[in-house]
Amino acid sequence: MSIATTNPATGTTLKDFPAFDAAKVEACVDRAHRAFAEWRRTPLERRIAIVRRAGVLLDERRDEYGRLMTLEMGKLFTAARDEAGKCALACRYYADEGPRILADEQVATDGERGYVAFHPLGVVLAVMPWNFPFWQVIRFAAPALVAGNTALLKHASNVPQCALAIETLFRDAGAPPGVFQALLIGSDAVAPLLADPRIAAVSLTGSEGAGSSVGALAGRYLKPSVLELGGSDPFIVMPSATLDAAVETAVRARIINNGQSCIAAKRFLVHERVADEFEERFVAAFRGLRIGDPMLPETQVGPLATAQIVDDLERQVRESVAAGARVLTGGNRIGRAGFFFEPTVLADVTPRAPAYHEELFGPVASVLRVRDAAEAIRIANDTKFGLGSAVWTTEAHEALRFANELEAGTVFVNGMVSSDPRFPFGGVKASGYGRELAAYGLREFVNVKTVRMFALDGERAPARGTGTE
Ligand code: NAP
Repeated sequence: MSIATTNPATGTTLKDFPAFDAAKVEACVDRAHRAFAEWRRTPLERRIAIVRRAGVLLDERRDEYGRLMTLEMGKLFTAARDEAGKCALACRYYADEGPRILADEQVATDGERGYVAFHPLGVVLAVMPWNFPFWQVIRFAAPALVAGNTALLKHASNVPQCALAIETLFRDAGAPPGVFQALLIGSDAVAPLLADPRIAAVSLTGSEGAGSSVGALAGRYLKPSVLELGGSDPFIVMPSATLDAAVETAVRARIINNGQSCIAAKRFLVHERVADEFEERFVAAFRGLRIGDPMLPETQVGPLATAQIVDDLERQVRESVAAGARVLTGGNRIGRAGFFFEPTVLADVTPRAPAYHEELFGPVASVLRVRDAAEAIRIANDTKFGLGSAVWTTEAHEALRFANELEAGTVFVNGMVSSDPRFPFGGVKASGYGRELAAYGLREFVNVKTVRMFALDGERAPARGTGTE
């Protein structure tokens, strides 16, 4: 795959970027490794000030970064601006909370000094996807840098300008050379990086295939890894649900990011008592969606990011129909320039259909009818994925039952699944392992170090470590 900016709204390739050659990659790794020696000793307050400044710049540059995201991967400009704003929030969160999360934990012992310290690991490689081209990177980078690691970013090949803009962002915020660098490389260049002893750990957000390949390499080279992979989130509607809000949220939860979000609701499991009404309203809303230029404020669904995604979605819908699914609306690519697909609702989706067991990365919803909560839970969990899940019910005991029994990293009740810097984010099963955000995300890339000091003579041992190393 070439490294290039192609506008998904027109299909036109605007700019090609030559991949870094081996010598250039080596220079970046060397710089990141040397920068780590300094950065880990840089006082925590200074690291925090740089990440906080990056947040301020993200806020100031929301229009610029929003336009870049829309240009390279087609998300609605309004959503792209909001994405830059959310990145600012994450930077602020780690600037505010970093000292608390990284503070040594004192352990009460008899006659000795004992504490747990959180020290950085080194150069962390981030392999990131295009679908939230700023958010995925910042939610990795802000905690990694606050903790004292340095970072190398291998971004998706279709968002090179976003990758370079984020590198510039950290430089403008005051990060010393080598602390955050973007590598313009293809996925074939990831394996040699993981083999390199100067790379300490890896964080990948992407597909199962990429996760399995990078996870295997991390295992071979004994490097810690975090994998944030795909999802096929259930959205369960029970009879007590407030249907107006459930339908309105269901539509938004499916078409967010033009349908290309790991935590978009993909399978709508609706109790048979409300299924007819839900289906009728849901389909009507899908039919009314305005498709078009993602830069225009009135557009509700823009293009998919690449021609390949349209091809994949078309195959998945075709095969689902062959396996018994009925198309209630949509079902086809749109015959115009750019990578557009009709907002689509499928019913009668059988377990043999790709719409049942694969992730559909586009505006295609599957509605399945369920008899009761037990069947909803069974079907919700009958997937290899386990990322997010949403339940609509006003009965507290029922809500708790779903919260306990759904196999997912996140459960929302009467709300749309979303990430928030204050809460951990991640999945189970084929949706990956490890967590991002909150204290959990920061602690993925630290050495949780036990320090016990006995029989010190002379000077008193410090009551705490410095928290900077
Ligand atoms: P992808 O094709 O897996 O690509 C993700 C990144 O991995 C890109 O930088 C890609 O590089 C690289 N890559 C691909 N194959 C690789 C391999 N074998 N070895 C090393 N690196 C490899 O995924 P995508 O299409 O960009 O993103 C969509 C997927 O990401 C969906 O499945 C979505 O659900 C998932 N996702 C998950 C989360 C989460 O938090 N759980 C969030 C967002 C997206 P190239 O671009 O050069 O191929």
